[in-house]
Amino acid sequence: MSFHSLGLSEALLKAVSKKGYTTPSPIQQKAIPPILEGKDILASAQTGTGKTAGFTLPLLQLLSENSKEKFRPIRALILTPTRELAAQVYANVKEYSEFLNLRSAVIFGGVNQKPQAATIRQGIDILVATPGRLLDLQNQGLLSLKRVEILVLDEADRMLDMGFLRDIERIMNMMPEKRQNLMFSATFSKDIKKLAHGILKHPVQVEVTPENTTVDAINQKVYRVAKGLKTDLIIKLILEGNWKQVLVFTRTKHGANKLCEKMGKAGIKAAAIHGNKSQGARTKALAGFKSGNVSVLVATDIAARGLDIPLLPHVINFELPNISEDYVHRIGRTGRAGASGEALSLVSADETTFLRDIETLIEMKLPVEIVEGFEPDPNASTVPIKPGQGRQHRSPRNTSNNSGNSNRSSNRNNKSRRPKRNNDRRN
Ligand code: AMP
Repeated sequence: MSFHSLGLSEALLKAVSKKGYTTPSPIQQKAIPPILEGKDILASAQTGTGKTAGFTLPLLQLLSENSKEKFRPIRALILTPTRELAAQVYANVKEYSEFLNLRSAVIFGGVNQKPQAATIRQGIDILVATPGRLLDLQNQGLLSLKRVEILVLDEADRMLDMGFLRDIERIMNMMPEKRQNLMFSATFSKDIKKLAHGILKHPVQVEVTPENTTVDAINQKVYRVAKGLKTDLIIKLILEGNWKQVLVFTRTKHGANKLCEKMGKAGIKAAAIHGNKSQGARTKALAGFKSGNVSVLVATDIAARGLDIPLLPHVINFELPNISEDYVHRIGRTGRAGASGEALSLVSADETTFLRDIETLIEMKLPVEIVEGFEPDPNASTVPIKPGQGRQHRSPRNTSNNSGNSNRSSNRNNKSRRPKRNNDRRN
C-alpha cells in the first residue's frame, strides 16, 4: 500500500516523501481512511508505530480542505500527557504541514507562558498542549476552544496514570459538542474504556500490535545481581561493551540522579531525564543523547514515555518496573523498525516477584546470567521493595479468567510471543 492510495493530498504526500517514508505503517493504513471520512476512532498503538503521522496527516488534510485563513480559531486540539511528547508531536505537525497554509503552536508548563500566548493570539489552526498549561491559559482568557472541530487524545492511558482525568473532563466542556474525536492509547483498561465511552461517538476501533519488535526481535537478558553491586555492574557492562547509546531506566528520580553521578565519576557521559528536571535541562539531555555527546540517558518511566529516539541499540533496566506493562514499553525503545536491539535487566532478590510477573505478561522466560564477582546475595530477602507493590498493574483489569495460581507451563519457556495483558493476579 502507498500513501497515495490512502487519499492524502499532494501537499501531504510531498511532506511525507520529504521525511523519507515510502510505505504507511499498519496504524497509518488503518487509521487514516476512517479519520478522513470524519469518523471518531479509538486506536490502540504505542510509540514507535507511527501513530503521530497516523492522526496528524488526516487531521491536516481535513483542516486544509476547509481553511479559515482570516480568523484562524483553534480548530484542532492535540492533548498529550508530557511536555516531551507535546514538543515531538508539534515538530511532526510542523513538518507534515510544511506545504499547507496552516498554523500551529505548542504549549506546555515549565516554561514562560508569554511567547506561547503571543503565538496563539496571532491565530493558529492547530494547538498541541499538555492539559495543565492549556487550562492555565484558558482560565486567563488567553485562548478559546469554542471552535474546535477535531480533538486528539494522545497516550490517553498515560494521561489517566498521571491523574489528568479531571482536567480532561474540564477541557471537554470547553469545546463544542459536535466535533471529531481521535483517541490513542497503548493499553485498554476499564478506565480508558470508560473515558472513551464518554467522549467518542460510534468510534471505529483500530488496533495494531506493536511492530514485531517488542518481544520477538529484542535480545533480552537478566543479570541476577546483589542490590549493592548493581551500579558497579552497569558501569562494567557499559564500559566493556563500549556502548555509546544506552537508555537506562530507574524507578525513582533520586535513583536516576545518583546513578548518573556515579557513572560520571566512572568516566561515562550520562544525563538524567525525569519530572524534577527543568524543561531546559530535559531538552538539553535529550539533544545531547541524540547528538552522541551523552552516551547514557537515565530516565524514569513517565519521563521516557513518548521520547522519540529511533534505533536505540541498548536498553537497561537498572531496576525492574513494578508495573509489568512498563517493561514492554521500556524495551520497545530498542529494536525498532526491524533493527535488532538488546534489553538487559539487573535483577536483585527483592525484584523476583516483578520478574515473575513480567515473564507471565510476555509469556516467555528470560535467560539469566550471573557475572563473576557480581553474584546475587544468597541471603537477601525476596520480599518486594515496597510491600504490596509486587502485584501492581497499571489499572484494574478483568480478572474473570484468573486462575488464581501460577501455572506457567515449562513448554512456554523461551518461546517468543507477543505481549498479552496480564490477567494473572497470583497471590
Ligand atoms: P511515532 O509512533 O509516531 O512516535 O513514530 C515513530 C517513528 O517512526 C518516528 O521516528 C517517525 O518519524 C517514524 N515513522 C512514522 N511513520 C513512518 C513511516 N510510514 N515510515 C517510516 N517511518 C515512519
